[in-house]
Formats: sequence, C-alpha cells, structure tokens
Amino acid sequence: MSYIPADKLHEEAIKTVKELEGKELKPKDRLSLPRQEMPSQDPEVRKKNMNEVALGYFEEQVKIEAERCLQCKTAPCISGCPVQIDIPGFIKTAAEGDYEKSLSIIKRTSLLPAICGRVCPQEVQCQLPCTVGKSLKDVDLAVSIGRIERFVADWADAKGKKTVPQVKPETGKKVAIIGSGPASITVAADVRREGHEVHMFEAFHKPGGVMVYGIPEFRLPKRIVADEIEALKEMGVKLETNFLVGRTRKIQDLIDKDGFEAVFIGTGAGLPKFMNIEGENLIGVFSANEYLTRVNLMRAYDKERSATPIYQAKKVAVLGGGNVAMDAARSALRMGAAEVHVLYRRTEKEMPARVEEVAHAKEEGITFHFLRSPKRILEGEKGRVRGLEVLKYELGEPDDSGRRRPVEVKNSNYEMEFDTVIVAIGNNSNPLIEKTTPGLDTNKWGNIVADENGKTSMERVFAGGDIVLGAATVILAMGEGRKAAQSINELLSK
Ligand SMILES: Cc1cc2nc3c(=O)[nH]c(=O)nc-3n(C[C@H](O)[C@H](O)[C@H](O)COP(=O)(O)OP(=O)(O)OC[C@H]3O[C@@H](n4cnc5c(N)ncnc54)[C@H](O)[C@@H]3O)c2cc1C
Ligand code: SF4
Repeated sequence: MSYIPADKLHEEAIKTVKELEGKELKPKDRLSLPRQEMPSQDPEVRKKNMNEVALGYFEEQVKIEAERCLQCKTAPCISGCPVQIDIPGFIKTAAEGDYEKSLSIIKRTSLLPAICGRVCPQEVQCQLPCTVGKSLKDVDLAVSIGRIERFVADWADAKGKKTVPQVKPETGKKVAIIGSGPASITVAADVRREGHEVHMFEAFHKPGGVMVYGIPEFRLPKRIVADEIEALKEMGVKLETNFLVGRTRKIQDLIDKDGFEAVFIGTGAGLPKFMNIEGENLIGVFSANEYLTRVNLMRAYDKERSATPIYQAKKVAVLGGGNVAMDAARSALRMGAAEVHVLYRRTEKEMPARVEEVAHAKEEGITFHFLRSPKRILEGEKGRVRGLEVLKYELGEPDDSGRRRPVEVKNSNYEMEFDTVIVAIGNNSNPLIEKTTPGLDTNKWGNIVADENGKTSMERVFAGGDIVLGAATVILAMGEGRKAAQSINELLSK
C-alpha cells in the first residue's frame, strides 16, 4: 500500500462510474472492478496533526466498491461478522444510492456503525471469508465492507439523519451499568429501549471507554463517540462520571441499598502489563495505557490549553506489535518525537496489529525492528532512561497460540539509545471489582466468568466486553453487550 492523494482517487472513481453507466454487470465484470483505496491525509502533513488520517470514501468510490459485491447467496461475510450484520443487504442498497435504507439494515444488528466502520479489524472478520477476496486470492482485495459501512454512517450524520431509538413507557425498574465503553453503551441503549431506568457509572471524567481514552483522535474522532453518548442521554440514560464502582459504591450496595434490579459490569481491561525487566521504573518509561490516556483523554496534544502536558520525548522506543503499540508510536510522533522505533520479538507476519495501521505507521516514518526485545532499560542521569539493552530473537516452534515462539539468540545483546520507552504488550482487567465483590467468580486472569447470556455467578449481575473476554475488540464488546441486555430485559419482564 503506498500513498495516493485523495483527489487522484476521486478522479479515477468518477471515470470508472461513468464507464459503468447503463452497464449490466456480470460476476466477471464485478471481479475486475478496481478495489477502492481509502483516501487519507498526506503522511507528511498528518504526522504533525491529530486529525483523522482516513478521510472516508467519495460517493463514487462507494458505488464502485458496492458493485464489487457478488451478492452471494450463502453470504460467507455474514458468518465472519461477530454481530451478523446483513452485509449483502446493506451493500446492495448502498450500491443503489439508498443510504438511509442501508443504514437501517446495519442498525438492526449493530448500534455503532460509524465507530465499527472505522476501527473493526474487518480483514480478520467479515472480509476474511468474502468470495471476492477468495476469488482474487488476496484478502486485501475483498469487498471493503467496513469502508462502505463507515460511508453510510457518515452520510447519515452529515445529513442530520441520525435517529434516537424509541423508548417504551417507563417500567419503574432500575438498571446499573458500570463503565461506558462499547459493551456498556450497547446495554444502556437496549435496556433503556424497553423503558427501564438506566444509570451508567463511569470512573473517568469522560464517558466512552477505550474509544475515548485509548484509541487516538486520528483514528477515531472523539466527536463520533460523544454523539453516541449524547443519543443515550436523549433516550434518558443517566450518566454519572468520576464514579468508581468498588470505591464510590460497591456492587452489592447498588442492589441492596440503591434499588437496582440488575447490574451490568463492562469495566474493560484497563490494567497494563509490564515486561518485569530492570529499569521499568525509570523516568521516561510509560505504559501505553498511561501514555495514550494522557495524550487522548487529558488532551496533552493541545499544548496551549492542556493542564497536564506530557514528557517531551525525542527518541522513543515502543515495545509490542499490536494496535495499542501502533497507536502509541503514531501518537508519540504527533507529540513531536524526532524518531519513533517499534521493537517486536516476532516478525512482521506475526504482528497482531491491523495491516492498515502498520502501513500507515510506516508511511509516517516509524522504524520497525523485528525479532528484537529489550533485556533491560538503561539508566542515564537523574534516574532517566538513556536506552535499551536489546536482544536478537529467531522463530522457533509454534506455541499455544499457534504462532512460532521467539527464541533468544545467545550473546546477541547490543545497546540502543532512547529517552522514552512505551510498553505496549497488553492489558489485564483491573482487580478492584473482583476484590470488592464477594461471590463474583473470576478466572485465573482476573476476567469475570459469565455464561453465553452474560450472566455471572451473582444473582442479577451480568458482565460483558473486555472484562469477560480479556482485551478484545469493539464489535465483540458490543455483541456481548447485546446478549447481556437481552438477558436483563428478560429478567425484568418477569
Ligand atoms: C489503544 C487501543 C487501541 C485499540 N484499537 C482497537 C481497534 O482498532 N479496533 C477494535 O475493535 N478494538 C480496539 N481496541 C480494543 C477495544 O477498544 C476494546 O476491546 C473495547 O473498547 C472494550 O470495550 P468494553 O466496553 O469492554 O470496555 P472499555 O472500552 O475498556 O471501557 C470500560 C470503561 O469502564 C470504566 N471502568 C473501569 N473500572 C470501573 C469501575 N470500577 N467503575 C466505573 N467505571 C469503571 C473505564 O474507565 C472505561 O471507561 C483497542 C484498545 C486499545 C487500548
Ligand atoms: S462474501 Fe463478499 S461478495 Fe459475497 S456477499 Fe459478502 S461482501 Fe458480497
């Protein structure tokens, strides 16, 4: 993937649409239509700003991309979608230019299309089994389902066509929702729709979960998440921020003393993992979680106005190979670092980050060091980081995850200079709720145990999203929320 200016992509799409006019397309013609690249900001410009990188399809591009869909009878794409959106259905209506209908089809099963269209890893979900990608023998050539979804959602937003779901008459029953990430947003909407009183408790001063404090503005503008929260408020959901359940109030008290008839726990996986190597307590070492929270939630990028500016880094090492690592690296660049290096102990092929994010990071000038991992963080003056002692690795036999295990190359250590190190090797769940809620079963990783309907070991207590799955994805959190909401609504209907 290399950068093509947006106006060039638009010009080509206009030309192709003209050629398509009045043509009856056979499957062979559809397969030969050019896959539409996502217009994006120029890498040289965007690496200095926080604005969204991907600009969204032009209407002509949507037409072409939607016409690439073969409308397969078996629709394998649907089985790849965690919430089973009627993908051929919404693509067909988008191809016909009926975006309103297209959106209504998506909204039957997915509450957050503007968000999912931007951040879902479609290449390993709906686009993976897509017949077009299979026929062309390249998953990157599958129909760009997520980009069409995003266009339709943005179109509705631009036309002011967003609708607030109808709420049934009040039932007088109260439900507490803990956390305000995608799992909780979904539960709040689905439960409130049935007329129950919904109170959402969020520990941070802003709602939205990782979509606000973790995923950066340049990938998911905060405005989009804020709109979803606003819609909940318009439905009558009561939101309380700066409310840490487990400290401000315990779960049992919400049920016994505050009259909540059901509780949903959607507290996510916000506890960063560390490498447990020497030097992790030095000045200049951050967890990706802390770094991204400071940049995003505390708006450290807004240097003129932010009350909590961030450590000025010049040469940054990011440890890890997932989306979180990419977000941290690209954020560090935008915060003014002269050089950003990502160190990953396997090869590019095993990197869990989305291919698109890695490509964007490379375009922006981030340097990757594969088969490398630090042995220790080196101390410089006054307890500050001065660099890393790095070890080389090679790939051995596959491990439990099926990926080839990285094996240390003996005596391969060397030093690299850095003034900042960001550790992005994953997250666990915060133990606060587990510790303050006797009777709530958790597994060995501290995740809450819930059945397929979101029911936990405690009466009237449900859970879903990352707190159950471990660090996962927005759409999976949303899907879990849907199931838990259904269980809560069934419980309260008795
Ligand atoms: C940097 C980063 C990038 C990511 N990129 C992607 C991506 O591109 N695509 C994708 O699909 N997924 C991505 N993910 C994963 C995705 O964001 C999560 O899977 C998803 O947000 C989980 O949703 P959730 O509702 O379970 O919890 P969260 O979004 O984690 O929200 C939980 C909320 O609960 C609050 N909370 C916690 N404890 C308490 C308490 N005791 N009392 C009250 N409130 C509490 C937290 O403050 C938080 O706001 C990314 C994650 C990170 C960290
Ligand atoms: S699998 Fe691909 S081509 Fe077939 S219906 Fe789904 S999106 Fe269209």
